[in-house]
Amino acid sequence: MKTFDPASNIQDLMQFGEFGDVNPSITDSATYTFMQAKTMTDTFNGESEGCFLYSRHWNPSNKYLSDALAAMEGTDAAWATASGMGAITCAILQICSAGDHIVSSVTTYGGTFAFLQNYLPKFNISVSFVDITNHEQVKAAIKPNTRMIYTETMTNPLLQISDIPELAKIANQSGIKLVVDNTFTPMIVAPARLGAHVVVYSMTKFINGKNDCVAGAICSSNDFIGGLIDVNNGTAMLLGPVLDPLRSSSILKNMHTLHLRMKQHSYNALYLANKFVETGIRINYPGLSSHPGHKTMVKMMDQSFGFGGIIAIDLESADKANKLMECMELAGVGYLAVSLGYFKTLFSNSGKSTSSEVPEDIQRSMGMSEGLVRFSVGLDNDIERSWQKILHCLKETGII
Ligand SMILES: *Cc1c(COP(=O)(O)O)cnc(C)c1O
Repeated sequence: MKTFDPASNIQDLMQFGEFGDVNPSITDSATYTFMQAKTMTDTFNGESEGCFLYSRHWNPSNKYLSDALAAMEGTDAAWATASGMGAITCAILQICSAGDHIVSSVTTYGGTFAFLQNYLPKFNISVSFVDITNHEQVKAAIKPNTRMIYTETMTNPLLQISDIPELAKIANQSGIKLVVDNTFTPMIVAPARLGAHVVVYSMTKFINGKNDCVAGAICSSNDFIGGLIDVNNGTAMLLGPVLDPLRSSSILKNMHTLHLRMKQHSYNALYLANKFVETGIRINYPGLSSHPGHKTMVKMMDQSFGFGGIIAIDLESADKANKLMECMELAGVGYLAVSLGYFKTLFSNSGKSTSSEVPEDIQRSMGMSEGLVRFSVGLDNDIERSWQKILHCLKETGII
Protein backbone atom coordinates (compact mmCIF):
# COMPACT_ATOMS: atom_id res chain seq x y z
CA MET A 1 0.00 0.00 0.00
CA LYS A 2 1.24 3.48 -0.84
CA THR A 3 1.93 5.94 1.95
CA PHE A 4 0.54 8.78 -0.12
CA ASP A 5 -1.88 8.09 -2.93
CA PRO A 6 -3.39 11.21 -4.53
CA ALA A 7 -5.94 9.20 -6.55
CA SER A 8 -7.26 7.33 -3.51
CA ASN A 9 -7.38 10.57 -1.55
CA ILE A 10 -9.73 12.01 -4.16
CA GLN A 11 -11.76 8.79 -4.34
CA ASP A 12 -12.23 8.78 -0.58
CA LEU A 13 -13.92 12.18 -0.49
CA MET A 14 -17.63 11.76 0.14
CA GLN A 15 -18.92 14.65 -1.93
CA PHE A 16 -22.56 14.45 -2.88
CA GLY A 17 -25.52 16.78 -3.29
CA GLU A 18 -28.33 17.67 -0.89
CA PHE A 19 -30.72 15.15 -2.52
CA GLY A 20 -28.20 12.36 -2.58
CA ASP A 21 -27.16 13.33 -6.10
CA VAL A 22 -23.82 11.58 -6.62
CA ASN A 23 -22.34 14.69 -8.19
CA PRO A 24 -22.61 17.67 -5.87
CA SER A 25 -25.15 20.28 -6.97
CA ILE A 26 -23.81 23.18 -8.99
CA THR A 27 -23.83 26.54 -7.26
CA ASP A 28 -26.04 28.82 -9.30
CA SER A 29 -25.87 31.81 -6.98
CA ALA A 30 -23.64 34.81 -6.54
CA THR A 31 -24.92 35.59 -3.06
CA TYR A 32 -26.25 33.63 -0.04
CA THR A 33 -28.98 34.40 2.43
CA PHE A 34 -28.80 34.24 6.22
CA MET A 35 -31.62 33.70 8.70
CA GLN A 36 -29.77 35.63 11.37
CA ALA A 37 -27.96 38.90 10.78
CA LYS A 38 -25.24 37.96 13.25
CA THR A 39 -24.27 34.93 11.18
CA MET A 40 -23.59 37.25 8.26
CA THR A 41 -21.31 39.42 10.41
CA ASP A 42 -19.52 36.32 11.69
CA THR A 43 -19.06 35.06 8.13
CA PHE A 44 -17.52 38.38 7.11
CA ASN A 45 -15.09 37.97 9.96
CA GLY A 46 -14.30 34.45 8.79
CA GLU A 47 -15.81 32.94 11.93
CA SER A 48 -18.70 30.79 10.76
CA GLU A 49 -17.80 27.36 9.46
CA GLY A 50 -19.84 26.10 6.50
CA CYS A 51 -21.45 29.45 5.62
CA PHE A 52 -21.07 31.11 2.27
CA LEU A 53 -21.16 34.84 1.78
CA TYR A 54 -20.51 35.75 -1.81
CA SER A 55 -19.29 33.58 -4.69
CA ARG A 56 -16.11 35.58 -5.40
CA HIS A 57 -14.96 34.60 -1.92
CA TRP A 58 -16.17 31.00 -1.70
CA ASN A 59 -18.99 29.01 -3.21
CA PRO A 60 -19.95 25.38 -2.63
CA SER A 61 -18.91 24.11 -6.09
CA ASN A 62 -15.47 25.67 -5.84
CA LYS A 63 -15.15 24.36 -2.29
CA TYR A 64 -15.77 20.77 -3.47
CA LEU A 65 -13.20 21.15 -6.22
CA SER A 66 -10.72 22.81 -3.87
CA ASP A 67 -11.13 20.00 -1.34
CA ALA A 68 -10.32 17.49 -4.09
CA LEU A 69 -7.24 19.51 -5.09
CA ALA A 70 -6.05 19.71 -1.49
CA ALA A 71 -6.59 15.94 -1.15
CA MET A 72 -4.51 15.36 -4.28
CA GLU A 73 -1.68 17.61 -3.10
CA GLY A 74 -1.73 16.72 0.58
CA THR A 75 -2.18 20.40 1.50
CA ASP A 76 -4.57 21.88 4.06
CA ALA A 77 -6.46 23.84 1.45
CA ALA A 78 -6.76 25.04 -2.13
CA TRP A 79 -8.56 27.76 -4.08
CA ALA A 80 -9.76 27.55 -7.69
CA THR A 81 -8.99 30.40 -10.08
CA ALA A 82 -10.34 31.32 -13.50
CA SER A 83 -7.00 30.55 -15.19
CA GLY A 84 -3.52 29.28 -14.45
CA MET A 85 -2.21 32.83 -14.81
CA GLY A 86 -4.83 33.92 -12.26
CA ALA A 87 -3.35 31.41 -9.81
CA ILE A 88 0.27 32.32 -10.52
CA THR A 89 -0.18 36.09 -10.37
CA CYS A 90 -2.29 35.96 -7.19
CA ALA A 91 0.19 33.66 -5.43
CA ILE A 92 3.10 35.96 -6.34
CA LEU A 93 1.31 39.20 -5.43
CA GLN A 94 0.12 37.69 -2.15
CA ILE A 95 3.74 37.05 -1.14
CA CYS A 96 5.54 40.06 -2.66
CA SER A 97 5.19 43.77 -2.03
CA ALA A 98 6.85 46.76 -3.66
CA GLY A 99 10.62 46.59 -3.21
CA ASP A 100 10.72 42.80 -2.93
CA HIS A 101 12.75 40.42 -5.05
CA ILE A 102 12.09 37.00 -6.61
CA VAL A 103 14.51 34.29 -7.71
CA SER A 104 12.94 32.44 -10.64
CA SER A 105 13.88 29.68 -13.00
CA VAL A 106 14.66 31.19 -16.40
CA THR A 107 12.72 28.40 -18.09
CA THR A 108 9.10 28.94 -17.18
CA TYR A 109 5.84 29.16 -19.02
CA GLY A 110 5.96 32.16 -21.39
CA GLY A 111 3.12 34.02 -19.65
CA THR A 112 4.81 33.61 -16.29
CA PHE A 113 8.09 34.85 -17.74
CA ALA A 114 6.33 37.89 -19.23
CA PHE A 115 4.64 38.66 -15.89
CA LEU A 116 7.91 38.42 -13.99
CA GLN A 117 9.97 40.30 -16.56
CA ASN A 118 7.58 42.91 -17.97
CA TYR A 119 4.77 43.40 -15.49
CA LEU A 120 6.25 43.23 -11.99
CA PRO A 121 8.57 46.23 -12.54
CA LYS A 122 5.35 48.30 -12.38
CA PHE A 123 5.29 47.42 -8.70
CA ASN A 124 9.03 47.75 -8.20
CA ILE A 125 9.35 43.99 -7.70
CA SER A 126 12.55 42.70 -9.27
CA VAL A 127 13.40 39.22 -10.49
CA SER A 128 16.69 37.34 -10.91
CA PHE A 129 16.45 34.54 -13.46
CA VAL A 130 18.63 31.52 -12.75
CA ASP A 131 19.31 28.00 -13.97
CA ILE A 132 17.12 26.32 -11.36
CA THR A 133 19.14 23.09 -11.49
CA ASN A 134 22.25 25.02 -10.40
CA HIS A 135 21.71 25.36 -6.65
CA GLU A 136 24.83 27.47 -6.09
CA GLN A 137 23.42 29.98 -8.58
CA VAL A 138 20.05 29.90 -6.79
CA LYS A 139 21.68 30.54 -3.39
CA ALA A 140 23.89 33.31 -4.76
CA ALA A 141 20.85 35.09 -6.23
CA ILE A 142 19.05 35.36 -2.87
CA LYS A 143 19.22 38.88 -1.38
CA PRO A 144 17.91 40.35 1.88
CA ASN A 145 14.69 41.44 0.11
CA THR A 146 14.09 38.11 -1.68
CA ARG A 147 10.67 36.70 -0.79
CA MET A 148 10.43 33.58 -2.92
CA ILE A 149 11.97 31.04 -5.21
CA TYR A 150 9.69 30.38 -8.17
CA THR A 151 9.94 27.33 -10.39
CA GLU A 152 8.06 24.63 -12.29
CA THR A 153 8.47 20.97 -11.31
CA MET A 154 9.11 20.15 -14.96
CA THR A 155 9.95 23.36 -16.73
CA ASN A 156 8.31 24.42 -19.95
CA PRO A 157 9.37 23.72 -22.67
CA LEU A 158 12.81 22.23 -21.95
CA LEU A 159 11.58 19.75 -19.33
CA GLN A 160 14.29 20.59 -16.82
CA ILE A 161 13.51 18.99 -13.47
CA SER A 162 13.52 21.15 -10.33
CA ASP A 163 14.90 19.42 -7.25
CA ILE A 164 12.06 20.46 -4.96
CA PRO A 165 13.43 19.05 -1.66
CA GLU A 166 16.75 20.85 -2.22
CA LEU A 167 15.08 24.10 -3.29
CA ALA A 168 12.80 23.89 -0.22
CA LYS A 169 15.89 23.54 1.97
CA ILE A 170 17.43 26.64 0.39
CA ALA A 171 14.17 28.57 0.79
CA ASN A 172 13.77 27.55 4.43
CA GLN A 173 17.35 28.53 5.26
CA SER A 174 16.55 32.04 4.02
CA GLY A 175 13.05 32.14 5.51
CA ILE A 176 11.46 32.59 2.09
CA LYS A 177 8.77 30.69 0.20
CA LEU A 178 9.16 28.10 -2.52
CA VAL A 179 6.36 28.41 -5.09
CA VAL A 180 6.07 25.55 -7.60
CA ASP A 181 4.00 25.33 -10.77
CA ASN A 182 3.11 21.64 -11.06
CA THR A 183 0.99 21.91 -14.23
CA PHE A 184 2.97 19.26 -16.17
CA THR A 185 3.04 16.65 -13.41
CA PRO A 186 -0.17 16.39 -11.35
CA MET A 187 -0.27 13.18 -9.28
CA ILE A 188 3.22 12.25 -10.52
CA VAL A 189 4.83 14.74 -8.16
CA ALA A 190 3.25 16.26 -5.03
CA PRO A 191 5.47 19.35 -4.50
CA ALA A 192 3.95 20.37 -1.16
CA ARG A 193 4.85 16.97 0.29
CA LEU A 194 8.42 17.60 -0.84
CA GLY A 195 8.60 20.97 0.90
CA ALA A 196 7.07 23.52 -1.50
CA HIS A 197 5.08 26.15 0.40
CA VAL A 198 2.68 26.99 -2.41
CA VAL A 199 1.71 24.86 -5.43
CA VAL A 200 0.05 26.46 -8.43
CA TYR A 201 -1.66 24.85 -11.40
CA SER A 202 -3.05 25.64 -14.76
CA MET A 203 -6.01 23.23 -14.57
CA THR A 204 -6.58 24.03 -18.24
CA LYS A 205 -4.09 21.26 -18.98
CA PHE A 206 -3.96 17.73 -17.52
CA ILE A 207 -6.21 18.24 -14.50
CA ASN A 208 -9.23 19.11 -16.61
CA GLY A 209 -7.91 17.36 -19.70
CA LYS A 210 -10.77 18.31 -22.01
CA ASN A 211 -9.56 21.61 -23.48
CA ASP A 212 -13.02 23.08 -22.94
CA CYS A 213 -12.05 25.85 -20.52
CA VAL A 214 -9.21 27.68 -18.81
CA ALA A 215 -8.85 27.34 -15.06
CA GLY A 216 -6.22 27.32 -12.33
CA ALA A 217 -5.59 26.49 -8.69
CA ILE A 218 -3.51 27.47 -5.69
CA CYS A 219 -2.79 24.79 -3.06
CA SER A 220 -1.22 25.65 0.28
CA SER A 221 -1.67 25.91 4.06
CA ASN A 222 -4.90 27.15 5.66
CA ASP A 223 -3.05 30.32 6.59
CA PHE A 224 -1.97 31.06 3.04
CA ILE A 225 -5.34 30.32 1.43
CA GLY A 226 -7.14 32.18 4.21
CA GLY A 227 -4.91 35.19 3.60
CA LEU A 228 -5.50 35.02 -0.13
CA ILE A 229 -9.26 35.39 0.32
CA ASP A 230 -9.23 37.76 3.28
CA VAL A 231 -11.96 40.33 2.60
CA ASN A 232 -9.71 43.20 3.71
CA ASN A 233 -6.43 42.49 1.96
CA GLY A 234 -6.50 39.10 0.23
CA THR A 235 -5.09 39.20 -3.30
CA ALA A 236 -7.55 36.68 -4.74
CA MET A 237 -10.54 38.25 -2.98
CA LEU A 238 -9.64 41.75 -4.15
CA LEU A 239 -8.39 41.05 -7.67
CA GLY A 240 -11.26 38.60 -8.11
CA PRO A 241 -10.09 35.86 -10.55
CA VAL A 242 -12.55 33.30 -9.18
CA LEU A 243 -13.45 30.22 -11.24
CA ASP A 244 -17.07 29.99 -12.37
CA PRO A 245 -18.88 27.27 -10.35
CA LEU A 246 -20.34 25.69 -13.50
CA ARG A 247 -16.78 25.03 -14.66
CA SER A 248 -15.53 23.88 -11.31
CA SER A 249 -18.24 21.24 -11.14
CA SER A 250 -17.18 19.85 -14.52
CA ILE A 251 -13.47 19.92 -13.61
CA LEU A 252 -14.23 18.04 -10.39
CA LYS A 253 -15.72 15.17 -12.39
CA ASN A 254 -12.66 15.11 -14.63
CA MET A 255 -10.35 14.91 -11.62
CA HIS A 256 -11.77 11.46 -10.90
CA THR A 257 -10.20 10.11 -14.10
CA LEU A 258 -6.94 12.03 -13.82
CA HIS A 259 -4.93 9.08 -12.47
CA LEU A 260 -5.92 6.88 -15.43
CA ARG A 261 -5.22 9.64 -17.91
CA MET A 262 -1.79 10.44 -16.46
CA LYS A 263 -0.78 6.78 -16.73
CA GLN A 264 -1.83 6.61 -20.37
CA HIS A 265 -0.25 9.96 -21.29
CA SER A 266 3.00 8.76 -19.69
CA TYR A 267 2.90 5.34 -21.33
CA ASN A 268 2.38 6.86 -24.77
CA ALA A 269 5.00 9.59 -24.28
CA LEU A 270 7.66 7.09 -23.18
CA TYR A 271 6.80 4.89 -26.16
CA LEU A 272 7.27 7.77 -28.61
CA ALA A 273 10.40 8.99 -26.79
CA ASN A 274 12.05 5.60 -27.27
CA LYS A 275 11.06 5.58 -30.94
CA PHE A 276 12.55 9.05 -31.46
CA VAL A 277 15.78 7.87 -29.81
CA GLU A 278 16.01 5.12 -32.44
CA THR A 279 15.81 7.72 -35.24
CA GLY A 280 18.74 9.69 -33.82
CA ILE A 281 16.65 12.88 -33.50
CA ARG A 282 17.47 14.89 -30.36
CA ILE A 283 14.76 14.20 -27.83
CA ASN A 284 13.97 15.56 -24.42
CA TYR A 285 11.98 13.32 -22.09
CA PRO A 286 12.63 12.94 -18.36
CA GLY A 287 11.67 9.27 -18.59
CA LEU A 288 14.84 8.53 -20.56
CA SER A 289 17.82 7.68 -18.36
CA SER A 290 19.92 9.98 -20.57
CA HIS A 291 17.86 13.01 -19.50
CA PRO A 292 19.83 15.24 -17.08
CA GLY A 293 16.88 15.44 -14.69
CA HIS A 294 16.01 11.73 -14.75
CA LYS A 295 17.48 10.86 -11.35
CA THR A 296 15.94 13.90 -9.66
CA MET A 297 12.58 13.01 -11.16
CA VAL A 298 12.84 9.39 -9.95
CA LYS A 299 13.64 10.63 -6.45
CA MET A 300 10.52 12.83 -6.32
CA MET A 301 7.90 10.98 -8.32
CA ASP A 302 5.23 8.36 -7.79
CA GLN A 303 6.45 5.96 -10.45
CA SER A 304 3.04 4.38 -10.98
CA PHE A 305 1.98 7.50 -12.90
CA GLY A 306 5.01 7.54 -15.19
CA PHE A 307 7.10 10.47 -16.36
CA GLY A 308 4.35 12.59 -17.83
CA GLY A 309 2.94 13.27 -21.26
CA ILE A 310 5.27 15.94 -22.63
CA ILE A 311 8.19 15.31 -24.97
CA ALA A 312 10.23 17.81 -26.95
CA ILE A 313 12.26 17.05 -30.07
CA ASP A 314 14.86 19.30 -31.62
CA LEU A 315 14.71 19.61 -35.40
CA GLU A 316 17.21 22.50 -35.37
CA SER A 317 15.31 24.78 -37.78
CA ALA A 318 11.85 26.31 -37.58
CA ASP A 319 11.33 25.39 -41.22
CA LYS A 320 11.75 21.65 -40.56
CA ALA A 321 9.59 21.93 -37.46
CA ASN A 322 6.79 23.60 -39.44
CA LYS A 323 6.92 21.03 -42.24
CA LEU A 324 6.75 18.15 -39.81
CA MET A 325 3.88 19.67 -37.84
CA GLU A 326 1.83 20.37 -40.96
CA CYS A 327 2.37 16.84 -42.19
CA MET A 328 1.46 15.34 -38.81
CA GLU A 329 -1.77 17.29 -38.67
CA LEU A 330 -2.79 16.07 -42.12
CA ALA A 331 -1.79 12.51 -41.21
CA GLY A 332 -4.04 12.62 -38.15
CA VAL A 333 -1.37 12.44 -35.44
CA GLY A 334 -3.12 15.29 -33.65
CA TYR A 335 -3.46 19.06 -33.84
CA LEU A 336 -0.97 21.84 -34.44
CA ALA A 337 -2.03 23.84 -31.40
CA VAL A 338 -0.63 25.33 -28.22
CA SER A 339 -1.64 23.96 -24.83
CA LEU A 340 -1.26 20.46 -23.46
CA GLY A 341 -2.82 17.73 -21.38
CA TYR A 342 -5.57 17.05 -23.91
CA PHE A 343 -6.88 13.61 -24.92
CA LYS A 344 -5.58 14.21 -28.43
CA THR A 345 -1.93 14.84 -29.22
CA LEU A 346 -1.04 18.52 -29.59
CA PHE A 347 2.20 19.87 -30.99
CA SER A 348 3.70 23.31 -31.41
CA ASN A 349 7.01 25.01 -32.01
CA SER A 350 7.70 26.49 -28.57
CA GLY A 351 9.99 29.33 -29.66
CA LYS A 352 7.36 30.72 -32.02
CA SER A 353 4.37 30.13 -29.78
CA THR A 354 4.13 29.42 -26.05
CA SER A 355 7.61 30.77 -25.33
CA SER A 356 7.52 33.65 -27.81
CA GLU A 357 7.34 36.05 -24.85
CA VAL A 358 10.89 34.96 -24.04
CA PRO A 359 13.33 37.06 -26.14
CA GLU A 360 15.24 34.99 -28.71
CA ASP A 361 18.66 35.60 -27.16
CA ILE A 362 17.37 34.29 -23.82
CA GLN A 363 15.73 31.34 -25.62
CA ARG A 364 19.13 30.45 -27.11
CA SER A 365 21.00 30.96 -23.84
CA MET A 366 18.60 28.61 -22.05
CA GLY A 367 19.25 25.99 -24.70
CA MET A 368 16.04 26.35 -26.64
CA SER A 369 16.45 25.72 -30.36
CA GLU A 370 14.19 27.38 -32.93
CA GLY A 371 13.37 23.90 -34.19
CA LEU A 372 12.03 22.65 -30.85
CA VAL A 373 8.72 20.84 -31.27
CA ARG A 374 6.86 20.12 -28.06
CA PHE A 375 4.39 17.26 -28.09
CA SER A 376 1.66 16.82 -25.56
CA VAL A 377 1.04 13.15 -26.19
CA GLY A 378 -2.62 12.16 -26.19
CA LEU A 379 -4.52 9.15 -24.88
CA ASP A 380 -4.13 7.15 -28.11
CA ASN A 381 -5.18 3.55 -27.57
CA ASP A 382 -2.73 2.29 -30.19
CA ILE A 383 0.40 4.40 -29.93
CA GLU A 384 2.37 2.28 -32.44
CA ARG A 385 -0.22 3.30 -35.03
CA SER A 386 0.42 6.96 -34.17
CA TRP A 387 4.17 6.40 -34.35
CA GLN A 388 3.80 5.01 -37.87
CA LYS A 389 2.08 8.26 -38.89
CA ILE A 390 4.87 10.32 -37.34
CA LEU A 391 7.51 8.15 -39.00
CA HIS A 392 5.79 8.63 -42.35
CA CYS A 393 5.99 12.42 -41.86
CA LEU A 394 9.63 12.33 -40.74
CA LYS A 395 10.44 10.55 -44.02
CA GLU A 396 8.08 12.62 -46.17
CA THR A 397 9.70 15.87 -44.99
CA GLY A 398 13.22 14.51 -45.44
CA ILE A 399 14.08 14.85 -41.75
CA ILE A 400 15.27 11.26 -41.65
C1 LIG B 1 -0.69 26.93 -19.56
C2 LIG B 1 0.25 27.13 -18.46
C3 LIG B 1 0.09 28.20 -17.57
C4 LIG B 1 -1.00 29.25 -17.74
O1 LIG B 1 -2.25 28.72 -17.52
P1 LIG B 1 -3.62 29.31 -18.15
O2 LIG B 1 -4.64 28.38 -17.64
O3 LIG B 1 -3.46 29.32 -19.64
O4 LIG B 1 -3.75 30.70 -17.61
C5 LIG B 1 0.98 28.29 -16.52
N1 LIG B 1 1.97 27.40 -16.34
C6 LIG B 1 2.16 26.37 -17.18
C7 LIG B 1 3.27 25.42 -16.93
C8 LIG B 1 1.31 26.20 -18.27
O5 LIG B 1 1.51 25.17 -19.09
